[in-house]
Amino acid sequence: MPLPRTDSLVTYPTGSVLEQATVLSTTTWSEQPVVLTDLTPFHPVDPRWPDQGTDLGILTSAAGSANLVQATIGATDGSELFVGDHVTVRRGTAGWGFVVAHVLPSDGPVPAEGESVMLAVDAVHRAALSAGHTACHVAALALNAVLADRWRRPADTDGLGNPDFDQLAITSSVIKPFAAVDTYRLGKSLRKKGFDPTDMHAALPAIADRANATLVRWVTGGAPIELEISGPRLTDLRTWVCRLPEGTQRIPCGGTHLSSLRELTAIGIELSYDAVGSELVMTTSATPAGRG
Ligand SMILES: [Zn+2]
Repeated sequence: MPLPRTDSLVTYPTGSVLEQATVLSTTTWSEQPVVLTDLTPFHPVDPRWPDQGTDLGILTSAAGSANLVQATIGATDGSELFVGDHVTVRRGTAGWGFVVAHVLPSDGPVPAEGESVMLAVDAVHRAALSAGHTACHVAALALNAVLADRWRRPADTDGLGNPDFDQLAITSSVIKPFAAVDTYRLGKSLRKKGFDPTDMHAALPAIADRANATLVRWVTGGAPIELEISGPRLTDLRTWVCRLPEGTQRIPCGGTHLSSLRELTAIGIELSYDAVGSELVMTTSATPAGRG
């Protein structure tokens, strides 16, 4: 059967962790079986900005059950499948479909094309990543707020009206279960944009304390969070919206999230410099409600 040239339908943005789906194609990538389905609840790694890691879970077919190795984004032109970093075409390119590639173990059961399969996401792992991702975005807003007085020129602002240090300086973000690690470059280009890092090293504990006090207030307030979804396809735009007392933040985001800060009892950050001293590292942790 040819590979699909249409975008996968995805249900993880609405919180789904279980779907029955039809196998459109089974193929291989790096000697591992890859299954493409008409729809999926699996959140895939996005190779363009791989902050949130793969969902875990099980694909069950008549051949048996297999634990997913990973779900990642692929692109096909109907004859060939490119996966992860190997995707070079832009989304929306005519004749190309963007798909969720379900990568299976090479020694496990593989479903047949056209078969109906059950896709079951590990809901506990998903919830932990959602907490980590939400905490990551909220912590970034707190960091923006406490660094606002270090900007000497007008800069792009976040939804709360603070210069958007997070977006202007970030170089990488890794979402973990109930945690996140963000790395920011404090180089010449950030200083040119107006950021003043003078004496920041000595000030880091005080900066973290102020951010953590803000986070206590925001988590206690239980801000609501929505994911606005423009359509059902993998490639449709999704926007993370968080309504905090100081304002509403709206950013494009392909990840999964909590629906309210009420689902947490705490978000906390730690700040440090990397060994060279040119990068600031923010480590964020989220404490789920009911977990002490
Ligand atoms: Zn995000």
